[in-house]
Amino acid sequence: MKEHHPGTAITPLISVNEIASRIKEIGKTISEGYAETTQDSPLLLVVVLKGAFIFAADLLRSITIPCTIDFVHASSYGSKKTSSGIVAIRHNLAITGRHILIVEDIIDTGLTIQQITAELIAMKPASLGICTLLDKPDTRKYPVDITYTGFTVPNTFIVGYGIDYNELYREIPFLGVLLS
Ligand code: 5GP
Repeated sequence: MKEHHPGTAITPLISVNEIASRIKEIGKTISEGYAETTQDSPLLLVVVLKGAFIFAADLLRSITIPCTIDFVHASSYGSKKTSSGIVAIRHNLAITGRHILIVEDIIDTGLTIQQITAELIAMKPASLGICTLLDKPDTRKYPVDITYTGFTVPNTFIVGYGIDYNELYREIPFLGVLLS
């Protein structure tokens, strides 16, 4: 529990060290996987804001091939712990002909990533991959073809390491379960 969140119970799930070593591994796999395809044009990381911003900052620094970064903002309407099924997506991307890797915090029902993917594919990238820090396969409703996964987690509500509840808890360095 964080001292400046008095009365809030956050049960640690994935530690700072576990996050760091897994991201090192993923960065190596991505670097090897894209080494050939990105010889002419660098890999483009498309980071889904806000939740993936800390993950993306660490992932970028674990990648050893030329790569650039841009952002898409996604937010779902409705109450804060459940999705309403309506996702608002905002971006200013130029991705035609680029090899892109979407960087997401959590894939839950799959709705958000499915909508982002559909929008980006319409812009004709050379290829499109998906890298998520957390995958919750038990709650999937919309099929998603994930290329790289950090951790597979159960159906609990997770905060920390950039991931919020009502905009709070992003600064917590580990991933934990928020008990209500
Ligand atoms: P989906 O569209 O796949 O159902 O949901 C994806 C989005 O819902 C994530 O990017 C995240 O913003 C939010 N979300 C899903 N599960 C959790 C969770 O356990 N904790 C938090 N804070 N957000 C979640």
